[in-house]
Amino acid sequence: MEAISIYPIGYVVSPVDHVRDMPSGGVAAEIEVLPQFQPALERLEENSHLWIQSWFHQAPRDKLLAHPRGDLNLPQYGVFSIRSPGRPNPIALSLTKLLKVEDGRLYLQRLDAINGTPVLDIKPYFEGDIIFSPRTPYIRGRTRSSHQEQMLRRAIAHHQEKCHYLYLGVRMAVVADEVFGHLNNPELLVDVTGSPCLADTIQGLSRARLANPARFSFNPSATLQQTIWTLPNRGILTLTWLGQRDIMECADEELFSMDFKLE
Ligand SMILES: [Zn+2]
Repeated sequence: MEAISIYPIGYVVSPVDHVRDMPSGGVAAEIEVLPQFQPALERLEENSHLWIQSWFHQAPRDKLLAHPRGDLNLPQYGVFSIRSPGRPNPIALSLTKLLKVEDGRLYLQRLDAINGTPVLDIKPYFEGDIIFSPRTPYIRGRTRSSHQEQMLRRAIAHHQEKCHYLYLGVRMAVVADEVFGHLNNPELLVDVTGSPCLADTIQGLSRARLANPARFSFNPSATLQQTIWTLPNRGILTLTWLGQRDIMECADEELFSMDFKLE
């Protein structure tokens, strides 16, 4: 194999010095661009968001398989199928908000690279980069609690607040997932009656859209909190909240009535 030579165009300046201390999602950081490359920053501030490619110099390069986030409760994936830092070429790709550019220094809202990380490239983020609901692996924990934790994390990332109905949505989604095996199934239809927060959480977890393909419907209600999951030729699962408030604490049967009909 022929080697390709790449050199840093700058370095990350971050308050975090060790990988173990980096919170997921990163921290506010700067990039100090080397003087000979600073002309390439001309008009960069016209962009609100940037793709940053950096070189995770401490990551192992001999890794071809890994558990997502290093969590042994999750199945193993090839490193090209997940975003494990360890990989043959440990190039990190981060999307971040540019706050300002000053004297060859980029001030970024968040970056998950430690202090001193070499930066390889900077590119603007365009609206055309958005794909609203891509197909991504359905990573499932080996136990219910690890699976539920996964779902909770995904729900919070989607809904952006830890509200009462988010927790209810997660509990309902875990049960539906156990019945149907896969919530991203393009055939699985979801109908939500209740709070917009419940609907948004369920939509985020099931990736069910209102159209193209139409898998999702929503009826706002202040009195009833219900999800109906329909898999043609399999069955219809109806989950109706019984009104218990300590949602993450109680058992399924205390939390909702469950009705499953074969179709
Ligand atoms: Zn909410």
